[in-house]
Order: sequence, then C-alpha cells, then structure tokens
Amino acid sequence: MAKPMHPTPMLDTLETGPWPSFVSGLKRLAQDKDYVVDVLGQLETSYRTRKGYWKGGTVGVFGYGGGVIPRFTELKDDSGQPVFKDAAEFHTLRVMPPPGMHYSTDILRKLCDAWEQHGSGLIAFHGQSGDIMFQGATSENVQKAFDAINALGFDLGGAGPAVRTSMSCVGAARCEQSCFDEARAHRTVINSFLDDIHRPSLPYKFKFKFSGCPNDCMNSIQRADMAVIGTWRDNIQTDETLARRYFAKHGMTELVNNVVVRCPTKAIQVVDAKQVKAGPTISSVKVDDTHALQIDNRDCVRCMHCINVITGGLAPGKDKGATILVGGKRTLKIGDLMGTVVVPFMKLETEQDREKLVELAQKIIDFFAENALEHERTGEMIERIGLVNFLDAMGIDADPNMVSCPRTNPYVRTDGWDDEVARIAAKKVA
Ligand code: SF4
Repeated sequence: MAKPMHPTPMLDTLETGPWPSFVSGLKRLAQDKDYVVDVLGQLETSYRTRKGYWKGGTVGVFGYGGGVIPRFTELKDDSGQPVFKDAAEFHTLRVMPPPGMHYSTDILRKLCDAWEQHGSGLIAFHGQSGDIMFQGATSENVQKAFDAINALGFDLGGAGPAVRTSMSCVGAARCEQSCFDEARAHRTVINSFLDDIHRPSLPYKFKFKFSGCPNDCMNSIQRADMAVIGTWRDNIQTDETLARRYFAKHGMTELVNNVVVRCPTKAIQVVDAKQVKAGPTISSVKVDDTHALQIDNRDCVRCMHCINVITGGLAPGKDKGATILVGGKRTLKIGDLMGTVVVPFMKLETEQDREKLVELAQKIIDFFAENALEHERTGEMIERIGLVNFLDAMGIDADPNMVSCPRTNPYVRTDGWDDEVARIAAKKVA
C-alpha cells in the first residue's frame, strides 16, 4: 500500500472532461508506487506556481552515450516549496519503435510487464520524436529496465546532438497510397547510422522521416532534416467502377466543389465524356455515361487532394519512388523551415536503390558534421552557406524542382519544357 496522496485540486479538474485523463492513469499507478504519489504532488505544485521542477544530469546505460533523459527533482530539499523526496529520480528511456509503429499485442504486454517491474509503469506511445517514452525509472533501475527491454529486441533511440530516432508512416501494410517500402527503407537507413544514434557527436540533432506518399503523414517536410516522401512520375491511375460509385453517391456539385476547384494547379477538370483529350500525359475516367474527369498530369503537383477524395477511382501512378528533401525543422534560430527538394525522384525498389539512399544520407551527415555550427540544424546550415554550395558538395545538379513556385519565378525559363515533355513521351512510345 503506497503512502497517502497529496491534495491535487487542479489536477483533479483535468479528470472531469469527456476524455480519459492521464491524471487518472497516474493515480492508478500511485496506488502501488510511492514515487508516483510524489510525481503527482510535484505536478500539482508546477501547475500552481507555473514552474517546472525537473532538472537534468547524467544517467546512461553501459556502452551508450544517449537515449536516457535524466530527470531529477529540484523539490527534494526544503526550499520553501513542498518536498517530494520519493520523486527524486524519474528518468525517461527513449526506445526506438519498429518502422510503421506496428506491434503485436504480445510484445506490448511484455514491454508493459518489463516497465512495471523496473519503472513506474507509465509509457507514452509515442513521443514527439517518435520514440516509445518509458517514463519514470530510478538511476539504479535504468540499466535493469534497458536490459529487459533490449532482451525483447528493442534498442534505445537518440538524444542530444545525434542522429535521432526515425519515424515511418503505417505504409503499404494498411494504406493504398504507399509509393515505396517505407518500413524497409527506414530500417536500412537507421541500421546504417546506429553508431551516430547511440554516441552523440554531431553539431546538433539530425532526423530522418519516411512518408509513403505526398500526404506526408509523418510531417517529414516540416520536421525532418532528411525527408523521404513517396511519389510517382507517370500518370495518375484511374478505375471507372470506383469513380462512377463516387459520382453516384456525391453528384456533380460535390465533384466540382470538392475536387475540381480544389486542385491547386487546375490540372483536373470535368469534360464531356465524348470529348476527352488523348495524349501521353492525360489521365481520364468516366464518372457517368456523359461526364468524365480529365487530368493533365504535366500540371499535377502531387498534392494528393483528388486522390484522397476519390480514393480508388484515382490512384498514384505506377512508376513509383520517392522525393528526398533536406532541411525541414520547427522554430529555432531563423524560424520554421520546410525541407528543400534535393532529389526530385529516386527509385526505392531494390537493395541497390536503398544503398544509394544510405550513401546520400551519409554524404549529408558527413557534410553536416563538418560544416554546421554548434546547435545549428541542417536547414539553418543550408540557409547560411547557400543551397548552391550544399548541392555542389553533394554532387547534385540544380533542377527546377528545387525552386519553390518555378512557374512564377522569373529566374526559371520554361520555354522548351513542352518540347522536352514531347521528346520524353516519344521516347516512351518508341
Ligand atoms: Fe490536382 Fe494533382 Fe493535386 Fe489531383 S493530385 S488535385 S490533379 S495537383
């Protein structure tokens, strides 16, 4: 039986809302664990004073330089605030999830058992950086908890100035829009940089994220130093049965208002079924006996909107691969940055393709390690030195796909583009 609870009037109000509350979860754990009683007391103090009372330190496991976030309470001596001695140590283990975050219930139960034995029992699936956060171990139990979790086949993730834990979307296992094998690409890349994850030696953090299609469910364009986003380079595929089914259910008004006018580049239109254009860059599908959707794929910017709305009726093309972007990050020194395209299209089907991806990642990380200032992310480094210099160092030629809004940018000449498309199409036919 644990010690009596501290009064927590502010936390209690969080339990009154319609959703399950983490406070109720912590109270349940506090029935057996004294230190959770004190964690709740400290949290209530934080809410009252609007101050955090956790401080860092140095805690780790044998052979690793990161992966454990030390948390020591500042409220263990008499400092005018209530004292919570039992919460003196409440460290977090960051553990890498499997690609796509697929678990069996059996492994989840085993992870829970291991953490109940050696830690508080409190687990967050998943933290901001994608890790499973095992929260609340004493310094003495950190190694024991890691050994138990490691024996189940899981490894610590990154922390500090290192390659961080990566994330990949649920992928082809449960999503028809997937354009490459995200899980395999994720695992291949991360296995190549384990040393950089476990022994922080970079100027700052470096994150990979893998999204199977341009919906970018991992938000990789905003948040990854190197984002791998699935795409296609041929025409959108169509299925007449499913397109007709959509139209029968939703009608013309919704088709126009929710699909056609929302295409950012006006690539898609409704036409008379008898007047559909033919051509190597045109996709078309009848939605009833008199109307058809017609897409000029030269103008499609792969925003995914029409495909998301008429799922199945429209689908990504057959020639699939990924776009590589570098330099996305949330606010730091120079504000938010979106990733910049460095490779517009890369096939990711074979082992050799994935090795090329690893080679590119290695080049980028090496360059980042040598050229970034301390506490500077890749995007900030590229802003400082210039994209041209970065591309030069990577051995990549500049390409209009790297220019934001190339159609409205006076530095990009588009004369000759139509000839180029015709030449490529003629080559394909031949
Ligand atoms: Fe338009 Fe292409 Fe987006 Fe469809 S995926 S709405 S055609 S830009």
